[in-house]
Amino acid sequence: MGVPISQMWTVASYVLKQKFRGRKQYPLVLMLEPLFRCNLACAGCGKIQYPAHVLKKQLTPEQCFQAVDECGAPMVSIPGGEPLLHPQIKEIVEGLVARKKYIYLCTNALLLKEKIGLFKPTKYLTFSVHMDGQKEHHDFSVCREGGYDIALEGIREAVKRGFRVTTNTTLFDGTEPKSVRAFFDEMMDLGVEGMMISPGYSYDKAPDQTHFLGRAKTRKLFTKILSNRKKRWVFNQSPLFLEFLMGKRHYPCTPWGMPTFNVFGWQKPCYLLQDGYADTFSELMETTSWSSYGTESGNPKCANCMVHSGYEASAVHDTFGSFKGFFATAAATLFGKYKSDAAMKALDEEDVPAYHGAVVPLTMSGIKSRETETVEL
Ligand code: SF4
Repeated sequence: MGVPISQMWTVASYVLKQKFRGRKQYPLVLMLEPLFRCNLACAGCGKIQYPAHVLKKQLTPEQCFQAVDECGAPMVSIPGGEPLLHPQIKEIVEGLVARKKYIYLCTNALLLKEKIGLFKPTKYLTFSVHMDGQKEHHDFSVCREGGYDIALEGIREAVKRGFRVTTNTTLFDGTEPKSVRAFFDEMMDLGVEGMMISPGYSYDKAPDQTHFLGRAKTRKLFTKILSNRKKRWVFNQSPLFLEFLMGKRHYPCTPWGMPTFNVFGWQKPCYLLQDGYADTFSELMETTSWSSYGTESGNPKCANCMVHSGYEASAVHDTFGSFKGFFATAAATLFGKYKSDAAMKALDEEDVPAYHGAVVPLTMSGIKSRETETVEL
């Protein structure tokens, strides 16, 4: 099962409506963080290092609904922390479903099997399960032995009950591309609707500061992973964003595309940075110095960022912003296999277990990209 037509139509008509209204800065996905508490302590996470009094805080359902109504985005992603730890997550989800929002409830799935009875299957609710790769890699990445197997049980149960399930995977330096490709097969075998991938952002609060990817390494890694794609792999994200990760496209950041609301308020400017907070969504839009962010701004905090919360909205904007973008999206969806002998050879030449944290050797000659750059492999 792929993304329902009704969701595609909702997003497409929303974006076109914004364009007809001449609105240049509009939100596509609200990142609603109802709490920062988590039952894991992943090395690459920038959210769980808050002091105990902050970790105890959580948004009420009413605060969540007000943020969703104020923002108006057609999709709501609920990350955290671990949202299933929120005692009123059932009410929050029900309130958003009643508002006909397409919800991606991001979970590490440790509690999914136990809590799944709280929810009813609907096209509006997707469990987006945090899976960082094959068993050993995932367990290493989330610092929890057995975490992969528990998550797998949760996914199986959710799929069996008829829920929409996707995976979300964050990749860091040292990731073994071959292993990621095998992981894609494993996830599709489970019957998930699709997969989402993104490079990690170099959070200055994350315990592990040594394995974040720079832009050049990101392009090399994703070129290896996403070239010579298997037909059965389904990605639940913009194909143009995946081309961006492979270095085939250049996009500026669209930080307002995925605004963040959490226990501190509306976070400036994006999900990743915390340069202050606004009390209302309008205040966020009006008082944030947007030109100070994104790679082109020269802001060092943005220099290496290629994260989906900044750039996926740029890709969606491209799809609906011109015939060229629209046809490129259609072509990528229908025919995007990205055949590359060099990428295949590069895959065969490396065998570095990701959890050893070694830097992936980059030895091959270049692949000419379709649009903007040559990615050296
Ligand atoms: S480039 Fe990344 S860190 Fe900077 S504003 Fe955009 S999403 Fe945020």
